[in-house]
Amino acid sequence: MKYYSTNKQARPASLEEAVINGLAEDRGLYMPERIKNIPTETIRRMKGLSFQEIACIVARTYFDEDIDGEILDKIVNDTLSFDTPVVQVNKNIYSLELFHGPTLAFKDVGARFMARMLGYFINKMGIGQVNVLVATSGDTGSAVANGFLGVPGIHVYVLYPKGKVSPIQECQFTTLGNNITALEINGVFDDCQALVKSAFMDKELNKHMKLTSANSINVARFLPQSFYYFNAFARLDEDNKAENLVVCVPSGNFGNITAGLFAHRMGLPVKRFIAANNRNDVFLEYLRTGHYDPRPSIQTIANAMDVGNPSNFARIIDLFGNNRNTHENICQLISGCSYNDENIADTIRKVYASCNYILDPHGACGYQGLADNLSNDETGIFLETAHPAKFKDTIDKILNADIAIPDKLKAFMNGEKQSTPLEKDFDSFKEYLLSR
Ligand SMILES: *Cc1c(COP(=O)(O)O)cnc(C)c1O
Repeated sequence: MKYYSTNKQARPASLEEAVINGLAEDRGLYMPERIKNIPTETIRRMKGLSFQEIACIVARTYFDEDIDGEILDKIVNDTLSFDTPVVQVNKNIYSLELFHGPTLAFKDVGARFMARMLGYFINKMGIGQVNVLVATSGDTGSAVANGFLGVPGIHVYVLYPKGKVSPIQECQFTTLGNNITALEINGVFDDCQALVKSAFMDKELNKHMKLTSANSINVARFLPQSFYYFNAFARLDEDNKAENLVVCVPSGNFGNITAGLFAHRMGLPVKRFIAANNRNDVFLEYLRTGHYDPRPSIQTIANAMDVGNPSNFARIIDLFGNNRNTHENICQLISGCSYNDENIADTIRKVYASCNYILDPHGACGYQGLADNLSNDETGIFLETAHPAKFKDTIDKILNADIAIPDKLKAFMNGEKQSTPLEKDFDSFKEYLLSR
């Protein structure tokens, strides 16, 4: 199957090309030419299946024209060494816990899948080493570094701003060694991002080494996120709670919710979606006005959602036809909401006190989006995108507590930090990469 660019100026790419290049030549995002349906009977039979078995069905529906089914099953099973359980929080509100992977955030699913698919293509096509450059303010770096750890043929460079990443997050990508190199940039996150962008455009550098990115623009990172929407449906269906299902997704770059919209397009019976934002709410404004007006991001306590120009917006518009009915059609399926830091803290306190459930700041937006919008005949599920201990300082302050750190996270904290300090100018970065 071919993948076309949302900008429609580049020629359609094969799956291999889309995964290895990340972004199309015209700077658009790749979209599959067709989204195949999964028959209703198959979806209804998923309630007897494991998460891994469900994910294999979805993966084959996306990719089986391009990758042998058994290889695909292996990629899926290697990716999903953990579960994504559904937990009832309050009456008709459920949490889809996506934080049981190695770095305790939902990005593990996409990062691990992409690493394995890219590794498979590199090997099959006999390409030499591929270098993944990733700029991070915290969560992306850890998921990508851990997802790609030990994958042959791939080296990962994680660029992070010195002193701007929490110690818990920092240790998740600086202690790994092997094929992971952490670069501590003397600057802010935007400097890291600018370095990565300049590197992709530098001819000399691209002649010297094969470079690619691993953010949610990559089809191999964002599409596998559909897996857990089907799993959530199956788990609720087992309890006869899957009718009138409303899914609320805490959103930043909108990769996660776009994967949910793809699942819906494949036939998953979701009644409607809610996109929950922090104060960075350009999408909510789009729903209200029909105008999309990107802005610089504002810092909040749900910092993985501090995005002023969500990259997957282009995919959503494209999915809904990119014509004069697009806004109306989007509004029929998706509503939005936005919460400031005070709202988020209130929600975390309230849900802990009344339901004994500890939300993280991102999941709190998701919970509140349901609490404010759900009617009695609906079942709501929000995506709990990270373990609260990843934001321990914030949560401890809000709850006036000392929340437990899971063993998995402690293990990272015991490792030895290894990172290379670099200045923020492109010449230093380029010189460093040319010397590799
Ligand atoms: C990345 C991230 C988000 C936002 O996901 P998008 O796919 O960018 O919308 C939300 N919560 C957490 C914890 C994240 O790490």
